[in-house]
Amino acid sequence: MKITEKLEQHRQSSSKPTYSFEYFVPKTTQGVQNLYDRMDRMYEASLPQFIDITWNAGGGRLSHLSTDLVATAQSVLGLETCMHLTCTNMPISMIDDALENAYHSGCQNILALRGDPPRDAENWTPVEGGFQYAKDLIKYIKSKYGDHFAIGVAGYPECHPELPTKDAKLDLEYLKQKIDAGGDFIITQMFYDVDNFINWCSQVRAAGMDVPIIPGIMPITTYGAFLRRAQWGQISIPEQFLSQLEPIKDDDELVRDIGTNLIVQMCQKLLDSGYISHLHIYTMNLEKAPLMILERLNILPTESEFNAHPLAVLPWRKSL
Ligand code: FAD
Repeated sequence: MKITEKLEQHRQSSSKPTYSFEYFVPKTTQGVQNLYDRMDRMYEASLPQFIDITWNAGGGRLSHLSTDLVATAQSVLGLETCMHLTCTNMPISMIDDALENAYHSGCQNILALRGDPPRDAENWTPVEGGFQYAKDLIKYIKSKYGDHFAIGVAGYPECHPELPTKDAKLDLEYLKQKIDAGGDFIITQMFYDVDNFINWCSQVRAAGMDVPIIPGIMPITTYGAFLRRAQWGQISIPEQFLSQLEPIKDDDELVRDIGTNLIVQMCQKLLDSGYISHLHIYTMNLEKAPLMILERLNILPTESEFNAHPLAVLPWRKSL
């Protein structure tokens, strides 16, 4: 089912916020098996609306693993799955294969992205006949599959890092081009500055984009990872995060505890803003921190909600 339809269906029957989990592709076969087990445990503990699987820009073995993971999660585990798909440095034949695989596995959701250049290259060059921007990929998917897929696009509340002048107006214009090309929902880059995010949502709406805005939420697990990720995404860190986390930076357990409280406060403010009813958690393939956030937000399913859920028991389990 399309994410957009699923979220709308939920909205009509409940005011309780919903959530989803992002997973990346592990490098080893054992890692993949561990991930399936983790997905299963997280599903049973929280009943997310959907999960998504990242794509390794440029193609290669991990891209094939992405399509395998999507197919298994969607058609064997029975999880509503969204496949990330980049168009950087990839021949169109590879994009065609990925879309075909997703289509045949019953996956109806694609997050259409340009992708980043490989670590050893500063810029990227499109392959001959390939795409330049995410909007080109969106138009291509639409031309081949019509409305079969709900198409998500990436949004940057603090501007895409490559925009030389951090020109927020131009960044919004490019986002609008992706929506006009057929984007059905926006998933954002991680962020910590919630006031800036809410202001950005109001600008997205004022620019005429009325699709769901889904904030990307990054749990805080260690102080080092927290700083590194903010620096990598070129996002600002509010003073209260630094003042609470810096003095305890060497105690990982305490950082996770206080960090989770900071993220929970941030999520609550987002939910109270009226712009947001769904949280998308970057799990980094870990289960404890994402579930701690949902537990402290008090939005995990109650026992009766769990029992009433049509998919509370995964399809493959039913056949055991
Ligand atoms: P675009 O929207 O095409 O933008 C790319 C650049 O071009 C930006 O600087 C933009 O400002 C500029 N631009 C856009 N349109 C125009 C135009 N008309 N004229 C001139 N300039 C323009 N990467 C992966 O490799 N794999 C993943 O699985 C993955 N998942 C992600 C999930 C989310 C939620 C997010 C936010 C990002 C993800 N990324 C992933 C990273 C993403 O690929 C990079 O941020 C990439 O640099 C930009 O992708 P985009 O789709 O936003 O590109």
